[in-house]
Amino acid sequence: MNRIRLLVLNAALGPLDYRLPEGVSAPAGSVVIAPLGPRKVTGIVWDEGRLPGEEIAFERLRPILEVVPVPPLPAPLRRLIEWTADYYCAPLASVARMALASGGALGGPATMTEYRLSGGTPERMTAQRLAAIEALEGEQGTMRELAGIAGVSEGVLRGLVNQGVIEPVTVNIDRPYPPADPDHAPPDLSPEQSAVATRLVAAVEARAFAPFLLDGVTGSGKTETYFEPVAAALRMGRQVLVLLPEIALTENFLARFAARFGAAPVLWHSSLKSTERRRAWRAIADGSAQVVVGARSALFLPYANLGLIVVDEAHEVSFKQDDGVRYNARDVSVMRARFEGVPVVLASATPALESLHMAAQGIYEKLDLPARFGGASLPQVALINLTEEKPGSGRWLAGPLIEGLRDRLAKGEQSLLFLNRRGYAPLTLCRNCGHRFKCPSCSAWLVEHRLSSRLACHHCGFETRVPEACPECGESDCLVACGPGVERIADEVRDLFPEARIALATSDTLNTPERAAQFIAAAEAGAIDIIIGTQLVTKGFHFPELTLVGVVDADLGLEGGDLRAAERTYSQVAQVAGRAGRGAKPGEVLIQTRHPDAPVIAALANNDRDGFYAAETAARRDANAPPFGRWAAIILSSEDEKEAREAAVRLGDVRPRLADVQILGPAPAPLALLRGRYRYRFLVNAKRSANLQAVLRDWIAAVNFAPGVRVGVDIDPYSFV
Ligand code: ADP
Ligand code: ZN
Repeated sequence: MNRIRLLVLNAALGPLDYRLPEGVSAPAGSVVIAPLGPRKVTGIVWDEGRLPGEEIAFERLRPILEVVPVPPLPAPLRRLIEWTADYYCAPLASVARMALASGGALGGPATMTEYRLSGGTPERMTAQRLAAIEALEGEQGTMRELAGIAGVSEGVLRGLVNQGVIEPVTVNIDRPYPPADPDHAPPDLSPEQSAVATRLVAAVEARAFAPFLLDGVTGSGKTETYFEPVAAALRMGRQVLVLLPEIALTENFLARFAARFGAAPVLWHSSLKSTERRRAWRAIADGSAQVVVGARSALFLPYANLGLIVVDEAHEVSFKQDDGVRYNARDVSVMRARFEGVPVVLASATPALESLHMAAQGIYEKLDLPARFGGASLPQVALINLTEEKPGSGRWLAGPLIEGLRDRLAKGEQSLLFLNRRGYAPLTLCRNCGHRFKCPSCSAWLVEHRLSSRLACHHCGFETRVPEACPECGESDCLVACGPGVERIADEVRDLFPEARIALATSDTLNTPERAAQFIAAAEAGAIDIIIGTQLVTKGFHFPELTLVGVVDADLGLEGGDLRAAERTYSQVAQVAGRAGRGAKPGEVLIQTRHPDAPVIAALANNDRDGFYAAETAARRDANAPPFGRWAAIILSSEDEKEAREAAVRLGDVRPRLADVQILGPAPAPLALLRGRYRYRFLVNAKRSANLQAVLRDWIAAVNFAPGVRVGVDIDPYSFV
């Protein structure tokens, strides 16, 4: 049969049929280029009978143009693409795009030119040339990279190329990665770690689907423990995928990986250069990439021979993608493991309620690491009631927390203040006329960033300079900052302790891997007394001298009241608390709150995780919320307010009326304007008995929307804005 059906990488097109030219073979999964009118399209040869569509007479089929010389996408990945599109109500083409990652991986040159010193000397030596030559000793890279290393312009280096001092070398982009050695430096595991590792190693060797929830307190050594099944997979010649939530901050992980396996893993994230992306994609597809450490998008890559998936910090909200294909990488990773027939490990100190529920039902096997490694104790937690211990006016730190900081400074120990708010202040207004600074394209306040003298929208990235005068009334020197962000806390700390060495740790200050590495090195070396950070500092760090964690506002996450507010607050505070006392010295955690009796705050104070989860589970059951019932959101948006509203009304008019599905809305979304688009929202709450996806698909298909309207479906939403 040389008729093929293609899944074309264009969501506007359905599946298309083509003919294979004589002598050309393209099994299912092959990536091909095909003609479409005068254009060319990229498509994936799909399994016979799995994509619905009309049969066109064979004579009328056009032949494909080319089979791209990459391995066909494996069957388990094809099944995963189908499942993801179906479950998340997303176009197949959009999901398939994630597997191909970028055109760059498929085509383009396989070599590139890099440069290095040749050993020669220039005819005329200048001070600048001499400095450049010294700086480039032993280096090799592109012109731009070398110019960066030498601190000179590319023009200077080109001058040296012309004189033969720097020579070009041709580099194979697809060159193999250095091999990881499973036996490079195995650790001595504690008996508890060892028991968990043995179980996981057996699962890898069994080569069968097996989902695990690795539930270990902060500092229990989850990483060291799951490195053992990673080593087992390596010994079997199989690939491993490790998903991490914040790939920008993986320095600590990478160092530990290299120490254990003697080589770096293969990285996958959105800011890879296109040559690195191509190299990684190809090595993943041909099976030579042994361990891939990546952000959620690494989940859809075409692993040739996967043996294990690990999702570290599996509770993290950033595994949920909120635009494009709205999927949850934690859940999709379990499906991928199922299609591949391999174990998957969800590791966390504060597992998602959904994951614990699966474990309680016996669907996931739960493995526990209940104690910190090396005998370190968990930190003491105490609440500071802000209604009694009031900070001074325009201040945010209460007396006991200030005393705690003073005490650590005197002892030469480190403190960490946590506030999950970037910038200086979340709202700026005019004292004279009351004008509030708002984003022009979102219904959101502009956040003052004093370090960069800017007002910024945290939703769309809009930025403007802080004006001298109020744009509304023209009065100058009249702007007031309302509420605290981390920059403002840093000011307060500087004021209190001028001699302290302070570091701000946010995505604004640690915005490159180099800066992140510098921060970590300084913190580890004890060169920082007080760290002030956002959620960026809640995970992964291990600073032995850190003995005090202060949570500036534990109530912050409870505002807005979405479904997971309490759970998120619990895990965020527990994670940041887990940074304290990881070394020999015991840790202390001080939590500032106005609601010491709120169940989640009380649970944090009493280290009563089980109690918190039990209460939260009961509340979810009553509300028919996940993991019991299910939620979905439909967002209709348009640049035109009236068009968006009309679309919402029309969809509302044809809403399905079913006993097990409740539909709320339409209503303007809490973020009624986002990036210049007006948004209306339906919330759908379904019982487990309903086929939620089918209901949504049929409902949406019943309306013909205006071309300017975008319809977004969010299954199991995390964001309720
Ligand atoms: P978790 O991820 O569970 O919070 P980590 O994996 O970060 O804990 O481990 C905490 C610290 O203990 C790390 O510095 C780690 O290197 C160390 N550690 C854990 N297990 C061992 C072990 N078996 N041998 C040596 N060091 C260990
Ligand atoms: Zn905005």
